Amino acid sequence: MRLVIIGAGFAGMYAALSSARLRDIQGVSPEDLEIALVSPEPTLVVRPRLYEPKPETLTAPLLDVLNAIDVVYVQGSAETVDTKSRTVQIVTAKGTRKTLPYDRLVVATGSRLFRPNVPGLAEHGFSVDQLDDAIALDRHLHNLAAQPPSKARDTVVVAGGGFTGIEAATEIPTRLRAILGKDAEPRVIIVDRNDAIAPDMGAGPRPVIEDALRKCGVETQLGAGVASLDKSGVTLSNGVHIECATVIWAAGIRAAPLTAQIPAERDNFGRLLVDRDLRVTSVAGVFATGDAARAACDDVGNYALMSCQHATRMGAFAGNNAAAELLGVPTKPYHQKAYVTCLDLGEAGALFTRGWERKVEIVGEQAKKTKQEINTVWIYPPRPERAAALASADPERVTDL
Ligand SMILES: Cc1cc2nc3c(=O)[nH]c(=O)nc-3n(C[C@H](O)[C@H](O)[C@H](O)COP(=O)(O)OP(=O)(O)OC[C@H]3O[C@@H](n4cnc5c(N)ncnc54)[C@H](O)[C@@H]3O)c2cc1C
Repeated sequence: MRLVIIGAGFAGMYAALSSARLRDIQGVSPEDLEIALVSPEPTLVVRPRLYEPKPETLTAPLLDVLNAIDVVYVQGSAETVDTKSRTVQIVTAKGTRKTLPYDRLVVATGSRLFRPNVPGLAEHGFSVDQLDDAIALDRHLHNLAAQPPSKARDTVVVAGGGFTGIEAATEIPTRLRAILGKDAEPRVIIVDRNDAIAPDMGAGPRPVIEDALRKCGVETQLGAGVASLDKSGVTLSNGVHIECATVIWAAGIRAAPLTAQIPAERDNFGRLLVDRDLRVTSVAGVFATGDAARAACDDVGNYALMSCQHATRMGAFAGNNAAAELLGVPTKPYHQKAYVTCLDLGEAGALFTRGWERKVEIVGEQAKKTKQEINTVWIYPPRPERAAALASADPERVTDL
């Protein structure tokens, strides 16, 4: 029997760990149940940190962990999935193809920035979405130092005032001063179509965010979108033109394209609809998890967000349940009651909220310490030591905050 997991993000990593854990508990050998993880690189890209400087350092090796738990790593991208013949076609970076049959499939392909058809965005827009994007932005920021000082050089527009846009924007003043010199006066402007910053955060935490933006010197242009980009800067939907050398697009994400190949219902973000076991109900043998799936977290109407916090735990349940079906043991319905947010606010510290109503719990420097711990410890892979790695993936305990 073979269980194939596509994607080595937070969800895919925990799907691999938890399926291997259940196999171990059931005393089944890796020969009788092969678990294979397909991804372009055997590394975890620590996406929640990609707004930071030195993005090239923001990956963690996975091969040793996978070896320690007898999960087979298959290098490449899943190009096509045929759910009738239960096969995945994989293509390597060099273009060679191979077909991998599966008995159960876990789709953990994550998400990607949604780039709308805004004129000039493809040529002039940067982002902090994928590793390559963050590296390209960092390189561009360093190249600004070679340009003569000007208002445009020192101005950064961030399109999107949600979590990612705010984290990217509040970090930029420090990043630019480190590159351009401490006397530089970077101007950072968040542009958002909504009339309020952080529209998903609600009214409670908003004053903390607004205060932090003021402290970091980040301006906002609300109620207007970016209509076009060119070499000189951006033009907003209200006609205002902002001269700037840097535009960071952070205005929404969608499930990665592979989900479209699964013949099943998807939501507006392209996420596959799944049942409580994270099974794609209409397609035999397929589970979906993390940012690739729309799953209920509880019985009172809360759904998993496209977040690391949900992806990690959903991954542990999906892997466990896909393996459970093959091993003939009961599955465990996914549930995730606790929900917190920890938003980095640059030099103004951070903001920690608890619950779906986002009650402010910690702010400033204290919240920053929590953010740093989340970003440098909690979200990294377990040590490549078999017993500890398997133990870390008990679905009931993963991200139980
Ligand atoms: C700048 C930024 C800040 C963020 N901050 C936070 C935060 O503070 N808190 C939080 O909870 N979340 C945060 N997030 C969101 C979080 O990073 C995502 O929700 C999380 O990464 C989702 O995990 P995942 O495993 O589902 O997908 P991903 O992490 O996107 O991983 C998907 C994996 O699938 C692979 N893949 C995709 N397609 C294929 C294919 N066809 N074949 C093989 N492999 C494939 C990719 O290479 C990747 O390895 C942030 C994201 C960004 C970009």
